[in-house]
Amino acid sequence: MIPLSEALQRTLDGVRTLAPREVACHHAAGLVLARDVVATEHVPPFANTAVDGFAVHSADVQTVPAVLRVIGTCAAGDSREWSVARGEALRIMTGAPMPAGADAVVMVEDCEQSGDSVRVGRSVAAGSAVRPVADDVRAGDVVFAAGTVLTAAGAGVLSSINARNVAVFPRARVALLSTGDELVTDGSMLRRGQIRESNLTMLEILLAENECEAQNLGVVADDEAMLERTLLEAARTNDAIVTSGGVSMGDFDVVKAVLSRIADMQWMQMAIKPAKPFAFGLLAVDDRRVPVFGLPGNPVSSLISFELLARPALRKMMGHTQHLSRPLVRAVVDAPLRRKPDGKTHYMRVFGEFAGDGRLHVRDTGPQGSHQLAASAAANGLAVVPDGAGVAAGGEVDVMLIG
Ligand code: AMP
Ligand code: MG
Repeated sequence: MIPLSEALQRTLDGVRTLAPREVACHHAAGLVLARDVVATEHVPPFANTAVDGFAVHSADVQTVPAVLRVIGTCAAGDSREWSVARGEALRIMTGAPMPAGADAVVMVEDCEQSGDSVRVGRSVAAGSAVRPVADDVRAGDVVFAAGTVLTAAGAGVLSSINARNVAVFPRARVALLSTGDELVTDGSMLRRGQIRESNLTMLEILLAENECEAQNLGVVADDEAMLERTLLEAARTNDAIVTSGGVSMGDFDVVKAVLSRIADMQWMQMAIKPAKPFAFGLLAVDDRRVPVFGLPGNPVSSLISFELLARPALRKMMGHTQHLSRPLVRAVVDAPLRRKPDGKTHYMRVFGEFAGDGRLHVRDTGPQGSHQLAASAAANGLAVVPDGAGVAAGGEVDVMLIG
């Protein structure tokens, strides 16, 4: 058995970052920028009012109340060239350009208009309620450096500066398949020995949550020729392949039989529970070498090895250089996390909440068998419980935040 850290290192060493590509900014959120983004426009493009009110010369309202002559109304989007002289005011709406002459805006709440005169009840300083040109972004600024993970707000910023396309590391296209003659996906009645397939559903969603584009190839029968054809075809049209099942020591572990033959694989046994077996390798097709992640079939093991190994590697492929693995938080154990010594680190499924003391408090979510996915479904963390007898209530444990 090797430590998880070594398995992770071998996996990360085997994958390469995908070639950058230009995408529309509204498709770039969640992706990593491949180049600096430099603004070519100011935001806002002109000085404008931050409130609904009256644009004035601040000098005219130093003594209040002050009565000014209203010269008109200016809405956001108004393109007229307004000019306010001393003794005058322009009724103006949030976002409308500041008129020439005026240097401040008095909120409508502080004014009383009757006909074409306004009584200003509050004095304001020069610049008050005015948003200067380029107050948000200045043309020439690097708004986002290469390597930034674009957020929804970030995509909004790109729109605001008219950066319609940006260079990003693209979503990894990941073929997903499951193996096992016992698996049923079509809703039909279970015959003796059959179970419902669950990993494809789970992994397809995990891939999407991690900005990958999953191509779900369904269940492939435990048939070597069929599996070989499917894997080679998947490698031609995808950046990576995730398989579920058939990577351990069983007689019908066809994934192992086929991949051993056609790909350059490492069959790892890690000192962790669940998810001891894990396979990683490269499948050569045409002139490409496509990473293959062989996850075990037990649903909890599939989930955990995706989180601990496949996810970090896919993130590296998609240009991430930081936080490849999920963050760890030191947490307080509210109910004992019991386990037996077995030479392995256990990744126990826990639910954690930040409590009044500002600390994360965790308790396990139920039975921890690798076939018991239901208890994992309630987990938002994986407690990293070192070899030994577990952690007593009140003790501390590192928790990997998975949700
Ligand atoms: P394997 O890794 O193929 O030896 O499978 C280990 C266990 O996980 C067996 O009990 C399988 O029936 C079960 N299993 C394998 N693949 C799936 C799947 N896609 N969905 C649900 N259970 C599975
Ligand atoms: Mg199997």
